[in-house]
Amino acid sequence: MALIHGITVFQDFGDVNSVGNVDPEGQFVISTRVRCGRSMEGYPFNPCLTEAQYKEMEEKVSSTLSGLEGELKGTFYPLTGMAKDVQQKLIDDHFLFKEGDRFLQAANACRFWPTGRGIYHNNDKTFLVWCNEEDHLRIISMQMGGDLGQVYRRLVNAATDIEKRIPFSHHDRLGFLTFCPTNLGTTIRASVHIKLPKLAADKKKLEEVAAKYSLQVRGTRGEHTEAEGGIYDISNKRRMGLTEYEAVKEMHDGILELIKIEKSL
Ligand code: ADP
Ligand code: MG
Repeated sequence: MALIHGITVFQDFGDVNSVGNVDPEGQFVISTRVRCGRSMEGYPFNPCLTEAQYKEMEEKVSSTLSGLEGELKGTFYPLTGMAKDVQQKLIDDHFLFKEGDRFLQAANACRFWPTGRGIYHNNDKTFLVWCNEEDHLRIISMQMGGDLGQVYRRLVNAATDIEKRIPFSHHDRLGFLTFCPTNLGTTIRASVHIKLPKLAADKKKLEEVAAKYSLQVRGTRGEHTEAEGGIYDISNKRRMGLTEYEAVKEMHDGILELIKIEKSL
């Protein structure tokens, strides 16, 4: 439980130092990422935002983030005016959201695009914030390899810092409010990019085993994409009805099991 802007928020990041590396030998995991979503208090979701609100929010986000220091220090890059090749490289390298997502379009979430959209990141691109893609903010920590502990600690550090600077929409029962109901609650998605060639030889079997550990399998470029070069994005499926720590731990424990199975095949 935490007191944020005078509101009691049921948030529990747990003992961040108890989370370790899911693949210390670097045999299976290519990269690790943990993200959470946040909505800015006083603003509606995408379908109801005006163009002026988009601009105002981008300004608030970029000026607020410019106050971050240390490892979180970085630069805000608006999508408006970004060179196409720069944008595409950021997407291909898994740092930036894709453009023209048909599900977001169908949900009326892409009005006035690219106005008000942007990305903030530190120099190493280990800490990133998406502005006004699906959620007002997506706070992201990621790096190469399987050190989930380091990635999680950075995410917690960042979310805690940003929460002090921007008031976010939170509901006593639903948790943090997000545009997609599947993200309500903790909003945490902890994922690895992983190669499990033996287990994944049978995609159905991979899905089945993942489901047993409450994990979700996505393609290499995220939701609604296919695996490329045998690389899968595997993450915790549950975000509601458990704590932030438990969501990450669920992914941690499940990935260890998948690796155990892969080794036994
Ligand atoms: P989300 O909406 O949960 O943030 P998406 O499925 O929309 O995630 O994917 C967003 C981007 O994040 C994609 O480019 C995807 O490849 C990338 N991504 C997700 N997990 C990882 C990971 N563990 N390592 C590197 N990139 C990742
Ligand atoms: Mg997404």
